[in-house]
Amino acid sequence: MPKPTIVKKGDTLAKIAAAQLGDAKLASLLVSYNGLAGARDIVVGQAIHLPPRADVAAAKAPRRKGRAQARSGGPIRPWPAAPNGLAAILEMFGDPAPFVLPDGTVSPKWEIQQIARAKLPFPIPYTGNPAVMITKIACHKKLVPLFEAVFADIQAQGLQGSVKTYGGGYVARMKRGQSKPSTHTWGIAIDLNDRTNAMGTAGDIDPKLVALFEGYGFVWGGRWSGANKDPMHFQYCSGY
Ligand SMILES: [Zn+2]
Repeated sequence: MPKPTIVKKGDTLAKIAAAQLGDAKLASLLVSYNGLAGARDIVVGQAIHLPPRADVAAAKAPRRKGRAQARSGGPIRPWPAAPNGLAAILEMFGDPAPFVLPDGTVSPKWEIQQIARAKLPFPIPYTGNPAVMITKIACHKKLVPLFEAVFADIQAQGLQGSVKTYGGGYVARMKRGQSKPSTHTWGIAIDLNDRTNAMGTAGDIDPKLVALFEGYGFVWGGRWSGANKDPMHFQYCSGY
C-alpha cells in the first residue's frame, strides 16, 4: 500500500489528488476511499490514504459502458483493500487504545469518530431478539459501501434465505478470552446465523455465502482451527 499523504496547511483534496494521483478531479475518489463526509472534511495533520493503482486507473478511464456508474459518480470499488496484520488495521481503521476508559469500556467518542451505518436491502432478524428486524448495521465508516455492496449481492444471487439471523457488527469489545480488541471493535466484522454457528463448531453456514464474502476479501472464521473456529464470523482483514 502506498504511504498516506499528510494534510498540510493550505492543502485541499483537489491539490492532493492532482499531486498524488495526477488529476484534481480524483478528489472524489479520495473522499470515498477515506470515508470522508466530503471534500472539505480534512484537517492539518490528517493522513489521507491513496487508493490502489487499479482503482485510480479505473476512475480515470473513460466510462464507455458505465452509465449508471457515471451517474453515481463513484469509483468501481469505493472502499479500501482489506489490511493484513494489526499495524495495517490500525493505520486503515484507527487505534481504539486511546479511547479505552479506566473501567475497560470504550469511550463513545470512538464510535462517533469511526462508526457509521450501512443500509441493508432486506431486513434480517436480530439474534438477541428475533422479533427485532435489523435494517441497518453499524460498521466502520470506510466500509459502509462495502457492506452495502455485499448485501446487495447476497440478494442479487438469491442467497437471502441463507442469512437467517444477525448477531452483530460493530461492538467495542476485547477478543473472546484475550486482552486485544476484537475486529468488531473497528466495525470491520459481522456475525451471521450465530445460533447454529457457535465457536469451535463446524456450523451450518451456506458455502455459497462464504464464497461470496471471500470474493469481497473477507476472511471467514470457519476456516480457523480448533477452539478458534468461528463459523458465524466474517472479518475484513487478515493476519489478526
Ligand atoms: Zn464475530
